[in-house]
Amino acid sequence: MEPDYSRQIALKDVGAAGQSLLERSRVLVVGAGGLGSPVLQYLAGAGVGSLTVIDHDTLDPSNLHRQPLYALEDSGRPKAALAAAALAKMNPRVRVEVRAERFDTANALALVAAHDLVVECSDNFRTKFLVNDAAVLAARPVVFASVYQYEGQLQVYKPDREHACLRCLWPDATADGVVGNCAEAGVLGPVPGALGAMQAVLALETLLDIGTPLRGEVLLVDFRDFSTLKLRAPRHHACDAPRCCRVRAIVPEGPDLEVTLDSLDEAVARGWTIVDVRNAEEFVARPAAGRHFPVAELLAGEAPLAREVEYLLVCATGQRSLAAARALRRRGYAVRSLAGGLGRVDRDR
Ligand SMILES: [Zn+2]
Repeated sequence: MEPDYSRQIALKDVGAAGQSLLERSRVLVVGAGGLGSPVLQYLAGAGVGSLTVIDHDTLDPSNLHRQPLYALEDSGRPKAALAAAALAKMNPRVRVEVRAERFDTANALALVAAHDLVVECSDNFRTKFLVNDAAVLAARPVVFASVYQYEGQLQVYKPDREHACLRCLWPDATADGVVGNCAEAGVLGPVPGALGAMQAVLALETLLDIGTPLRGEVLLVDFRDFSTLKLRAPRHHACDAPRCCRVRAIVPEGPDLEVTLDSLDEAVARGWTIVDVRNAEEFVARPAAGRHFPVAELLAGEAPLAREVEYLLVCATGQRSLAAARALRRRGYAVRSLAGGLGRVDRDR
């Protein structure tokens, strides 16, 4: 059976020419989670010819309330591969490239440059700003979204004079661990689902050049009262299109910043001191071996660490510990972060 795009071809702004354009388009989706699931489904359904999905994570049962692309029985398997398998069933004509790895300083620029559009669906600021910088350097459009509890935010970057990049609006990247992500702050599943569907609309309109969605504006949506607010978000005045003057280069980071372990015993065997950076409630609910300093305490003022000791930072999912490890390395401490967090070593036990 062949896919049938007649209901979107019927739109006069799409037509056969628009459909053919979609089939020739290459879209990079960074993150296959709560935002990425609907983005991937709608873009595959629309017949976007080539999709690349990059996600380093494996499926956890706690993901499913906001990621209905997946099945409980697939828990523990890599999400990028699971997403590709689901999309192949839905539309076998779409080519899906699987990258079961982290979007990082080593692959960012080449990946972004190899696509016509990027949809940014990660859950951390570090990745969002890295996507931003790669897109500015490679002159590629990006559809951004972020979610916090009942609220969401949408922004479109294009390499022109009207569309601001993230650094036009926030010159200094917000540090991860300052604002909670879904694992830590909690979220209603359909909230990222709705924002992801809106990202898919923006992605298709950008590819097809329909309308002027979010030109120089950021859209805020609050699902507690269903209010929306459009904020003026102009390009930084000193920027030349397509380059933002605040984006210079992508600075590579050390390859051993994150380590994957089967158990915490391995860390002890390597002589590393374990530091748990979760908050006090998490620590009490599920104590882990090692010392305990919540991330805010660890990063405030003089770190309570010794210069000559090697540390392994751990948290629930590996995100706060990674952000803390980055910050502490810049201050000269010998720290690394447990990839995937305590959830992963617990599960494998
Ligand atoms: Zn900018």
